Amino acid sequence: MAVNSLHLRLIDEQATVALGNTFAEAVMNQLKCGFVAYLYGDLGAGKTTLTRGFVQGLGHSGKVKSPTYTLVEPYEIGKWHAYHFDLYRLSDPEELEFMGIRDYFDEKACCFVEWPDRGKGVLPNADISISLQYCDEQREVELTAHTSKGRTLLAVLGER
Ligand code: ADP
Ligand code: MG
Repeated sequence: MAVNSLHLRLIDEQATVALGNTFAEAVMNQLKCGFVAYLYGDLGAGKTTLTRGFVQGLGHSGKVKSPTYTLVEPYEIGKWHAYHFDLYRLSDPEELEFMGIRDYFDEKACCFVEWPDRGKGVLPNADISISLQYCDEQREVELTAHTSKGRTLLAVLGER
């Protein structure tokens, strides 16, 4: 039976980056198309760190900065498009309509969305939810698949 959720302990920042790297490998080798991931967790839980691991895993070698003020940071990496959203400062989901949100979510787009609740009603549904929590100095992560794409990703992550 396909697994719908996975729980992992991330002992340090490098482990969070490595999870993002593995995610990128799963997309390049198994999924081979875009997806939507919602990222949950308090400030400093590691949402941006995980996304950095992902875009670097796809082959991005430059900086990965948090799009707190710009709402979205786009990356074009070979044939892949990755979009890192941070909706923390979004006051109204309608702002997403004004920025042409629908154009971002195409077949090739790998989308990571921090604070997805702020875009409720406008954001497309998630294939996978990733919830990060403080656990002393470390972190715990719970990944939940909502679609067959999400289950494909989970299956690969669960093998590690
Ligand atoms: P968020 O985007 O959720 O606000 P960031 O990724 O910007 O969080 O920051 C996370 C902080 O926690 C960084 O300082 C990073 O070094 C640290 N960190 C990330 N993952 C871990 C981990 N598994 N264990 C301990 N510290 C971590
Ligand atoms: Mg962040």
